[in-house]
Amino acid sequence: MKISDHISLAEATKSITAQRLGIDNTPDDKTIDRMKLVANHIFEPLRNYFGVPIKIESFYRCETLNKVIGGAVGSQHLIGEAMDIDDDFGEISNRQIFVYIAQYLEFDQLIWEFGNDNSPDWVHASYSTNNRHKLSVAYKKNGYTKYEHFTSLESLYMFLDDLYN
Ligand SMILES: [Zn+2]
Repeated sequence: MKISDHISLAEATKSITAQRLGIDNTPDDKTIDRMKLVANHIFEPLRNYFGVPIKIESFYRCETLNKVIGGAVGSQHLIGEAMDIDDDFGEISNRQIFVYIAQYLEFDQLIWEFGNDNSPDWVHASYSTNNRHKLSVAYKKNGYTKYEHFTSLESLYMFLDDLYN
């Protein structure tokens, strides 16, 4: 079963951890509908724009799986509204992915996940029926994960520059 042109349900629910621990990471129909929105409004435009394979690191996560991997409480991954995208395949960078979504796509929350001021380690992108256009940076401070929120790319870049330089 496909949830969009380039994403199969198998790919969107796959987790090595779930497999290893025998966790059933199958979403219900309502969740699949929300996943289709994220796939069609964020992933497919991104995929079509760059024209290269783009890796989905994590998409749907059931409650048990989210707990085991230390995902945020109330994470949008739990309801199929968020995906983590990574530049593992090497043709484009996470920075390019982040900037493209921020500039051209409709989104709920876009997170620059760790990394440095040049590029995040991965990009978290969510889409909902009530999109907030929230730009965020996740970073570590004294061993804790912190989030900072922005309304423009310019203010986010300034924060990253201060944080990492
Ligand atoms: Zn995420």
